[in-house]
Amino acid sequence: MMPVSAFADGIIYNVNGMTLDEDGRVVRFNAMIVGSDGRVVKIFNMGRRDRLPEGMEWRADMEGRTLLPGMIDAHGHVMGLGFQLSHLDLVGTQSLSEAQAKIAQWGADNSAKWIVGGGWNQEIWGLGRFPTAQELDAVTGDRPTVLERVDGHAMWVNSAALEAAGITRDTPDPAGGRIERDAAGNPSGVLVDAAMALVSGKVPQPTPREANAAFLAAQRYLLTQGVTATADMGTTVDDWLLYRRMGDLGLLDIRIMSYGSGVETALAVGGQGPTPWLYRDRLRMGGIKLYADGALGSRGAWLKADYADAPGQRGLGFLSDDQLGNLMVRGAMDNFQIAVHAIGDRANQQVLDVIDELSDTYDGDRRWRIEHAQIVDPADLPRFGKHGIIASMQPVHQTSDMHMAEARLGPDRLAGAYAWKSMLENGATLAFGSDFPVEAPQPFVGWAVAVSRQDADMLPFGGWQPQQIITREQAWAAYTIGAAYAGFAEDKFGRLAPGLRADFIIVDRDPLNVSTSQLRGTRVLETWIDGQRVWKAGEEAAE
Ligand SMILES: [Zn+2]
Repeated sequence: MMPVSAFADGIIYNVNGMTLDEDGRVVRFNAMIVGSDGRVVKIFNMGRRDRLPEGMEWRADMEGRTLLPGMIDAHGHVMGLGFQLSHLDLVGTQSLSEAQAKIAQWGADNSAKWIVGGGWNQEIWGLGRFPTAQELDAVTGDRPTVLERVDGHAMWVNSAALEAAGITRDTPDPAGGRIERDAAGNPSGVLVDAAMALVSGKVPQPTPREANAAFLAAQRYLLTQGVTATADMGTTVDDWLLYRRMGDLGLLDIRIMSYGSGVETALAVGGQGPTPWLYRDRLRMGGIKLYADGALGSRGAWLKADYADAPGQRGLGFLSDDQLGNLMVRGAMDNFQIAVHAIGDRANQQVLDVIDELSDTYDGDRRWRIEHAQIVDPADLPRFGKHGIIASMQPVHQTSDMHMAEARLGPDRLAGAYAWKSMLENGATLAFGSDFPVEAPQPFVGWAVAVSRQDADMLPFGGWQPQQIITREQAWAAYTIGAAYAGFAEDKFGRLAPGLRADFIIVDRDPLNVSTSQLRGTRVLETWIDGQRVWKAGEEAAE
């Protein structure tokens, strides 16, 4: 039964409830009272013969199903997910003609000036060549269209897009890129690597209306996965205005812990420090996102020694020690939390060095965050336990990257790679996320990976670098209480206890009592925020 009123005490009962307490211990319960303010009043065990408490305005019989606190994604990109979801997706198309039909349909259903999307693969289509601009023109007409190849290294464009970018037979291939050409030397409709920028820079910025729709798509997807709160790593001013717009309209369901994209953004939004929590603890800009290096796959991660598969290359630090230090000081002076992206072992060392240096002056409860902390020199691992550092990591990156990481690093430099257990053993706080849309925001998949170091096929046997496997409770904590703590939100959400927000999910199995592969397949049935159901499987969102 649904709540009759948003502002009345209610009881949820006959439920297989579980949460962690603030020390990470499992607490089980079968009933929960939710206050009119959307906070938990109490969780308790009701005997079979006990009567339901008096004075409840609403009651919900959960028929024995399993209830957990809402999951938190400690590192995601909300609008990145939104635009990915609202763009044309050609993943899974089996032929050029199937793709063309899908493009035509998308064009008819959407009013965007440009058709933007991706996911095609001419190998799967059995084409034996790249598709052409003319094959796109046939279904798009003169509406400019850009469609990335599934690997992100090529772009299929139509004649209108070539024209908008001024690409002709006279345009030379840019450094690091190639314009595919027909026998006569005319651009044929595919741009490779650096040549993609010739067109991608011309794609118009989304209108506010398009951005609204993208946000709502992202929010809905997150709710379907049981994610009730997320960090937004690198919020722009436009993103912030959009989140405020959604909050003002009463459309902001999910909780967003926002980290401004750079110091200037955080100062533009927050003025002299973090914003207050807004819209009943749904939105706050509390920190600043910075970058120390790039990614491992493209050899942009900054390493202490050469890439095993590219002698002479070590990647590149984005900032000098002084530059990084200055940015961190500017943020820390105004009490913004600092979150620095660091993938390679040299980049992690740099951030640790700067934190060491700043911690004397900027002491107190800083919760310095290192985002990804993917490849760490074992000699540096103990340093994560100092100064209250948070290791914000993404379990699914481990299974996506493991073969690539072995190639980039060689077999002898993997001891500190995706080293969740070492982080805990050294005293760091672990916060888990997905880096969506890089990986899908599916916390139960990440949870299963964290306790197995295995992919969807349960490979490799026994797990990759299995000494870094952590317990089911530890991984759960990283997706709940750890992720909340990482966002200075542990007194608001992350577990179910009196005074905390009644954010919870109903799932189809008991994740503490199933096999790892079953854990991975956990399905979310309902998602509740502030004691109100905001999504139910098989239904549109409740009002
Ligand atoms: Zn990210």
